[in-house]
This record gives sequence, C-alpha cells and structure tokens, in this order.
Amino acid sequence: METLRSYVCGRWHEADRGFSALVNPSTEEEIARAGSDGVDFGAVLEHARGRGGPALRALTFAQRGELLKGMAKALRAQRDELLALSRSNNGATTPDGSFDVDGGGGTLAYYAALCRGLGERTVLAEGEGAQLARTEGFWAQHVLVPRRGVAVCINAFNFPVWGFAEKAACALAAGVPVVVKPATATALVAARAVEAVIAAGVLPEGALQMIAGGTGDLLDRLGPQDVLAFTGSASTALTLRRRTQLGAAATRFNVEADSLNAAVLGPDVAAAAGDPTFDLFLRDVVREMTQKTGQKCTAVRRVLVPAERLGAVRDALAERLGAVVTGNPEDPEVTMGPLASAAQLADAEAGVAALAASARIVLGGACCDGRGGEPGRGYFFSPTLLEAADGGAGGAVHEREVFGPVATLLPYDGSAEGAAAVVALGGGTLVTSAYGDDPRWLGAFLAAAGPTTGRLYVGSRAAAGEAPGSGVALPQALHGGPGRAGGGEELGGLRGVTLYMQRLALQGSRPLVEELAGAGREEPPPAS
Ligand code: NAP
Repeated sequence: METLRSYVCGRWHEADRGFSALVNPSTEEEIARAGSDGVDFGAVLEHARGRGGPALRALTFAQRGELLKGMAKALRAQRDELLALSRSNNGATTPDGSFDVDGGGGTLAYYAALCRGLGERTVLAEGEGAQLARTEGFWAQHVLVPRRGVAVCINAFNFPVWGFAEKAACALAAGVPVVVKPATATALVAARAVEAVIAAGVLPEGALQMIAGGTGDLLDRLGPQDVLAFTGSASTALTLRRRTQLGAAATRFNVEADSLNAAVLGPDVAAAAGDPTFDLFLRDVVREMTQKTGQKCTAVRRVLVPAERLGAVRDALAERLGAVVTGNPEDPEVTMGPLASAAQLADAEAGVAALAASARIVLGGACCDGRGGEPGRGYFFSPTLLEAADGGAGGAVHEREVFGPVATLLPYDGSAEGAAAVVALGGGTLVTSAYGDDPRWLGAFLAAAGPTTGRLYVGSRAAAGEAPGSGVALPQALHGGPGRAGGGEELGGLRGVTLYMQRLALQGSRPLVEELAGAGREEPPPAS
C-alpha cells in the first residue's frame, strides 16, 4: 500500500505515524495512507518566503506564464494515470475524472495565456489614473504588486486536480509561492498531480510545496502578507474563521464553501419535449445532479418550477434519472460512480432523511448496490429526486447541502420575484440557473436574484447548442458566491490573480506615477 509523502523544503517527507486511510469507494479496499507527522511547518513557510517568493517576484508576468504552461504540460503528460487514479480513489467515471483533470490543465493553460498577454511587466495598473490637484503635478493610479507571503491552498475532496490547479495558477501568476493541502480522502490523485509538476522541474524551488495529511500548526503561523485560500464545507470554513491567529494577523482569507444552487424554469418555457429551452433545462438538471455523483459545489440542489408544470417536469426528470447506471467506474457501462467515502455516504443518507421531513421522495433516496461491484460493498447512492408541496415554506431543503445525486423539486408562482424569494432562502449560492427566452422576465429575475448569487447562468433557445451546463466553473468567469457560499472570489480572469496581490494607490507627479505603474512594461513592436 502506498504511503503519500509531503513535498516540503525541497524534498519528499514520509511520516512514520499518524496516518489516515485512503479507500477505493467502489470496493472499500484501502489503497493508500497519508499523514504529515514530522513536517516542520515553520520551515515550510520560511522555504516559501525565502526561496519561492523572491524567485517568482523576479519574473515578469510573461515569464510566470511560461511556468504555468509547463505545469499544464506536465499534467497532460500524466493524464492517463490521473484518470485511472480518479476511478480508484475518487470513484469517478472517466468523463467525471476528465472534468477534474482536464479542467485543471485547461485552467493552467488559460492563465499561462493571460500572463503572456500581460507581457514583461511586474506591476499591474488598474483602471484609469486620476488628477488630484490643479495640474498633473499630483496624480493617482491604482496598482497591484505581489504580496510577500505564502498562498496556503486548502482544497476539497471532490476536485483534487482542478482545485489544486485553479488556486496555484492564480497565486503563481501573481508571483506568490504555494503550499497546497489536498483533502485527505482523494489525496492520491492530488499528490500524483503535484509529483508530476515537481518532477517536470518547471517551477523554481520553493514555489510549490504540498502537505499530505493535516496542517499541524501551519495556520497559526500565517501572517499579514499570507493568503489562506480555502475550499470546503461551510462548517469547516466557520471553524477556520474562528481561529484567533488568522484574525489577529489579518491574514487574507478567501472562502469557497457549499451552496444550495437552484435551477429555475421560467414561465414562458413549454414543458414539452422538443422545446429547445426545456430540453436544455432537463439535460442540465440531470447532468448537474449526477455528474461526479452530485459531489460538486456547483451541483443543482433545488429545482424551481411554475406550479402548474410540476407534474410534467417531475415525470421527465424521473425518466431521465432512471436511466443512470450506478456502479464501479471501471465498468464501461457505468455512468455514475459511488460517493467518495463512507463518511460521505452516511452524510447523504442523513441528509435525505432530513429533506424527507418536508418533501416526499419521488425517486431513489437510499444507498444501493453498484454495477460491477460486490453486493453490499461500495458507497453507491441512487439518483434521488424529492418534491416539496410549498417551495417557499423554508426548512431543510434550503439549509442542508446533501453532497450527492440529490435534488428537490419546488413549485413557485411563476413570477420572477417569487422565484428569487425562494432562491434567496438558500442564503447565497455559487450559481443560479434560469431557463427562459423572455428578456423581461429574465431582467426582473436578474434584479431580484442577482445579489444572492455569484453567477447567473441563463439557459435559452439561443444558448442551447453551446451552453456547457451551470456546473462548469470556467476560468474567464467569476467563481464564488455570497453568504453561505463563502463570500469568496476566485478565477474570473485577472480577478482571481488579484487575491494574491496588494492593491495600492500610487500618488505623485503624473509622469513618474505612469512610469512606475508601467514598470518593466513591454515595448510596443516597432511600426512597420
Ligand atoms: P471539508 O471537510 O470542509 O474539508 C475541506 C478541506 O479542509 C480538506 O482539505 C480538509 O482536510 C481541510 N480541513 C478540514 N478541517 C480542517 C482544519 N481544522 N484545519 C485545516 N484544514 C482542515 O470539505 P470536503 O468534504 O473535503 O468537501 C466537500 C465540501 O466542499 C462541500 O460542502 C462542497 O460544497 C464544498 N466545495 C466547495 C467548492 C467551492 O468552490 N465553493 C468546491 C468544491 C467543494 P482533510 O481532508 O484532511 O480533513
């Protein structure tokens, strides 16, 4: 059985005690173990601050882009092994594994190109400058410079590669070294991805370190120039927010937490097969419930339908969900794998029981045997659809994130304000999707529901052939949402990079300010 090692201070460290087991969720077989006992977390931070940070800050954006390109290439070269490990450690089917692995590589490649576009500069100017006095003798320009600390990136179990890549891409682009801590349950995949990057030798020493296992006293050592980027459950986020040292040092803290995302069917959409907007709605909802076995922070948990269409939508969804083949992803016929761990299975069972207190189960609702698995073994869970009689009545459906292939149908009155009021009961979402072709209704929904979400995905007739589904967090668009979703902001092009930079107002005479703000700016090519 493999023992996962941490990569710290320029070498691989193997603990000799204090391990947690990593399990194949289809077979319940133990496949690896991880622990960070013996890691000197003070030395880890010193190594990043003393070696990685200076090396990265000495590079221009274009040069950092080359590093990211090298990382994307290293992941691509390891793709087959990462997909195989995703099947055995995450229970992910090959398409689900690809969503994580290729999504991670694609995000790195996107930021490599973005850095290339920023050119040979080390300071970023933001927005227009402003004259502050009678003449240009006193001028201001906002600029961004790399913070002098470390990016500690804590990731959730469901995206071991993408989670690592999307945070590391932004921090390294900014010129800030990374200490990544993957979730232990699926750390085999994350560790292999980091190993591939280290082995490729594309990063300066100290730019990337990895902790396999717990974080020890790492978080108590963070200071005002460091960034803690956390992805995980709202309850862990709350525990971390309460840590005294993080508050005392005013460490920048970004939280990507859980979310009761909603899909809303607009009143103008005929609930009839063949209507492109309705077909897109059905396709998206089923995909967002079952992709990665519903273990996505962006998965659809609540499905809002005008009351008079509820029956038609229920039947159509139940039919499609009934065709899902649950089982061991090593079996090519399987379209949905198991949940990632025994703890996730227990949580899904308890969650459905909580939802069932105020909603009836239409389909599924329990663990099941998986195709290609031994009866009674594996953490398989049936696609589960529930239905509440009153969408606006509150209760567990708006409070409890069941991290599995589970969603609840909620009737609403057909008005944009009515739908937005039900969505708002979830306390803030990463993504809300609205399906319809009436700009007036959609405009009213944007005004009413916009403040409660980080992303509004509009599924319409015109988008039906192109839209990838509401669950895809593309690097060009903001990822993060208000309230319960954590209040964080990641990705969104340069926005995600600025998390790791310090914004300051640079003041002085206009020529000097502009020269400093454009420090190291690439010379424009000579006119031909
Ligand atoms: P979790 O239990 O909250 O764990 C998340 C991460 O925090 C793991 O790496 C975990 O390490 C670590 N952790 C837990 N307690 C810690 C502590 N006291 N100090 C330092 N680190 C600590 O979440 P999960 O079960 O892995 O992931 C599922 C949750 O993540 C869901 O709620 C989902 O919605 C959310 N999620 C959100 C996003 C987003 O972008 N908003 C993306 C993906 C997932 P160990 O594994 O070693 O305990």
